Amino acid sequence: MASEPIGERIMAIGNALEHVARFMAESPYSKLAGDPTMSDFTLGNPQEMPLPGFVAALEKWSVPQNKKWFAYKNNEPASQAVAAASLRERRGLPFHDEDILLTNGAFAAIAVSLCALIDPGDEVIFISPPWFFYEALIATYAGRAVRVMADRESFDLDIDAIAGAITAKTRAIIVNSPNNPSGKIYPASTLTQLADLLTAASKRNGRTIYLLSDEAYSRIIFDGRDYPSPVAFYPESLLLYTYAKTLLTPGQRIGYIALSPTMTNRETLRQSLFLAQLVTGFAFPNALLQHALPDIENLSIDIPHLQHKRDLVVGALREMGYSLHTPEGTFYLMVRSPWEDDVAFVNLLASHKILCLPGTVVETPGYFRISLTASDDMIERALPNFAAALQEASAAIG
Ligand code: PMP
Repeated sequence: MASEPIGERIMAIGNALEHVARFMAESPYSKLAGDPTMSDFTLGNPQEMPLPGFVAALEKWSVPQNKKWFAYKNNEPASQAVAAASLRERRGLPFHDEDILLTNGAFAAIAVSLCALIDPGDEVIFISPPWFFYEALIATYAGRAVRVMADRESFDLDIDAIAGAITAKTRAIIVNSPNNPSGKIYPASTLTQLADLLTAASKRNGRTIYLLSDEAYSRIIFDGRDYPSPVAFYPESLLLYTYAKTLLTPGQRIGYIALSPTMTNRETLRQSLFLAQLVTGFAFPNALLQHALPDIENLSIDIPHLQHKRDLVVGALREMGYSLHTPEGTFYLMVRSPWEDDVAFVNLLASHKILCLPGTVVETPGYFRISLTASDDMIERALPNFAAALQEASAAIG
């Protein structure tokens, strides 16, 4: 009997995730990620023991203080207050406690926002290179994903291209700064232009275009730079955050959606988001993480040390002859592949005991991505091997 497709929507999701699925199933990473002799630069996953403060917080707060300790938890006021106070201090904007919708990570924050905002056929713009799951999540909520390329030289937003992609059906745009995978922080001048564009287009359409500001890496900033949050520029913004990057604990799921304090329709949207949290599979953080939030809100991985790793790797790779940008934030470096076929070069790197992500998986063929969450030891072992792989690749070209 011929196999029948299960459904159109899941097929669209599958198409959007094709490169990711293939990488997870067939790459050297899928076979060798656990091998202790490999230097693993593939994902933003920890390669060292967790922060002791994080472990202590989970231990402390796992002891129940009342009968409801592990009861259903949703947007718990105490957790909302902790997150809002931190945002007010960090951003200098008057975020309201009740405008924090707690989610199990930025993943869920994106899903919940899309679920609440879009109707079937609405268009959602996302920027390429993107985070792996934007397109698939838009498809999940029956939206139409509209891809707009970032400027390929600077990796900044291309405002003219965004303007060209907006139609009467545009409901939202997803912007990610600091950007995974490019490490770019969008400057205030770009964000001002974006806000002007969205304001004018919303007015023309007679319908608000929302800005989903994916700020997963907003606390991973180098060189003492300012971080201009897109939310500070455009009132109709939802700030999406996860603690997983700052703490390097992506398997412990906590994050939030914060509504801009200047948004016109905060009350209604807040209620819609709550409904969306429920039907997106109860997308709230677990009770334990909500209890522990006061103790973990201000913890962070060692950012100066991460910056040191960035400087070491960027400097060494450039000296070897690789071409790459210096990231302004995030864990990631995008490096030009010496071969046009980045998947083939990533396979070659694997034969030199190095695991990286091919650019093709994040819509950037001809590049590969390095995650600086690799340990010092992995980096030290890998550097001579990066040089050897480049030599081998150059010899093969010549
Ligand atoms: N957005 C971006 C840009 C990311 O890189 C990630 C994680 N890789 C997420 C969202 C999702 O974060 P989390 O898994 O913590 O929910």
